[in-house]
Amino acid sequence: MNDRAAALAPAAYVAAVVRPEIRALSAYRVAKAQGMIKLDAMENPFALPEAVRAKIAAAAAAVPVNRYPDGGADVVKAALRRSLGLPDTTGLILGNGSDELIAIITVALAKPGSVMLAPEPTFVMYRMNALYAGMRFVGVPLRPGFALDVDAMLAAIVLHRPALIFLAYPNNPTGNLFSAADIERILATAPGLVVVDEAYYAFADSSFLPRIAEFANLLVLRTVSKIGMAGLRLGYAVAAPEWTAELDKVRPPYNLNALTQAVAPVLLAESALLAEQAAVLRSERGRLAGALAGIAGVTVYPTQTNFVLVRVADAPRVFEGLHAAGILVKSLHGGHPLLENCLRITVGTPAENDALLAALARLC
Ligand code: PMP
Repeated sequence: MNDRAAALAPAAYVAAVVRPEIRALSAYRVAKAQGMIKLDAMENPFALPEAVRAKIAAAAAAVPVNRYPDGGADVVKAALRRSLGLPDTTGLILGNGSDELIAIITVALAKPGSVMLAPEPTFVMYRMNALYAGMRFVGVPLRPGFALDVDAMLAAIVLHRPALIFLAYPNNPTGNLFSAADIERILATAPGLVVVDEAYYAFADSSFLPRIAEFANLLVLRTVSKIGMAGLRLGYAVAAPEWTAELDKVRPPYNLNALTQAVAPVLLAESALLAEQAAVLRSERGRLAGALAGIAGVTVYPTQTNFVLVRVADAPRVFEGLHAAGILVKSLHGGHPLLENCLRITVGTPAENDALLAALARLC
């Protein structure tokens, strides 16, 4: 070790070389949920039937974990193409969660000086990835009530010429589905790629996936996280093969681990089970939203997702009260001016939703 190295503490090295915009961040904190009713992260609340667990166990047991996984993840891709009815001519790329695909897309498009544009509030990882990749982020506020301000979006597109636009469809954390006609206008005006992020497609009435061939600059992003496989970390992007071929150059060679590759096809084949769970959650969502609307002091916003956004008089107090009652939700208070006193409640099992409703009625 030379004298200089010996003299410096780690913090001094960090200050010298870590980018200031990274040092200014705090790391994403995942709330501890041990023993709690977990209604904070849009997971599917249902345990798998024993027979399906046995199939997963058999598939996992057969995995040669001493070997790298298939870099092309061909079996998973075939299972997805089958379950989505995707022709081989459509481009498909897989990610370690759709989070990784957001990062891959951003890195691929982050020319020096380029712009990412999204409405806000929306999924915070779009803005974060712009920062990581050195893209300039332009946020266009949603209207009060969370509709897309399409005129402001189009004006911002003309002004900033974004290489990349993210539209969560339906939107997180607001839950609403933007108008398809507005998205078509954005696709027609955008000079670059428009990502329609359909993380919540299973709970929504509309999708752009069947329309990939119609728009040269459309990429549909999806995840299996909300339909019962959040632990597997599997996301996928569908676009013209010209797009996915470029994104594939940024993708780490073995990004999908061998256990996920073995297990995901088993679950994707359980289409009746997945559809039934989504149907129960949609119906529970209706019941939950209706009951929430009946609690004085609670405003409920329309949702096409597996969560319900509500506004209460004092979100920090209600959040703490629910937490003390063993129920974890997501407080959005302080995240964006439009989300003042808002809580995001994931739809749980009927019993979990009953517990939430009883606690909330006490607190509001
Ligand atoms: N997009 C949206 C809109 C989301 O809400 C989420 C998860 N909160 C993701 C992407 C990321 O999901 P995952 O990485 O689990 O696929």
